[in-house]
Amino acid sequence: MPKQKLRRFDVLTIFPEIITPYAEASILGRAQKGGFIEIRAHNLRDWATDKHHRVDDTPYGGGAGMVMQVGVFDLALRELKGIKGREREGKVRVVLTSASGKPFTQKDAVRLAKYDQVIFLCGRYEGVDARVEEHLVDESFSIGDYVLTGGELPALVMIDAIARNVPGVLGSKESLAEESHTDAGVLEYPQYTKPEVYKKWKVPEVLLSGDHKKIAEWRKNKKRSSGEQGSVV
Ligand code: SAM
Repeated sequence: MPKQKLRRFDVLTIFPEIITPYAEASILGRAQKGGFIEIRAHNLRDWATDKHHRVDDTPYGGGAGMVMQVGVFDLALRELKGIKGREREGKVRVVLTSASGKPFTQKDAVRLAKYDQVIFLCGRYEGVDARVEEHLVDESFSIGDYVLTGGELPALVMIDAIARNVPGVLGSKESLAEESHTDAGVLEYPQYTKPEVYKKWKVPEVLLSGDHKKIAEWRKNKKRSSGEQGSVV
């Protein structure tokens, strides 16, 4: 078993079945098996207090769609934050997924990887009663300037980015060091693999030269700034 503390991610959602398959596949799945992280999806309806397990209601002031209720999130959070007294030690972070939240960045991923437990709240319908954001969460994040049908994909996006910064989750430390966004605003150099020539598209000569100094220099020159995002070589 690894020596460092296990990082736990809890996701509160009405569709837990969206979370689990992704969390159990590939690197996240391996990291869970290895005891580095734990990802748990919880059905918010389990904390509903009426017999129909209702978690939403009509908006005050009128308007289309339904709004998720504050009470059910409150009850769920009280239980999830209570696990092993981590809340008392200040090592728990509660994150709301929201199209109007602040943009989620690599810096946030690195910072949130230091908490013992991060709890994600996933909205659906027209969103979540504003009192959740005012009273129950530490921060709200958007993963981009577009509107999704729910907070499950944003929660998975953030868990994936955070988990990569938990010690032990990625095999080699270098994978993190040279990556895009590790230095704010700097993007990784272009990468190539076999074959050397595909159709008439060649791998740059320097990468085949075996001259490590020249390769390092080429890579340094090929690093782009985020302003050039999307333009490849
Ligand atoms: N009425 C809301 C608005 O205009 O901002 C959109 C609600 S959206 C249909 C339902 C839920 O999806 C949100 O409560 C949030 O949890 C999630 N969501 C949608 N887009 C998102 C984004 N870009 N980033 C993070 N969460 C998002």
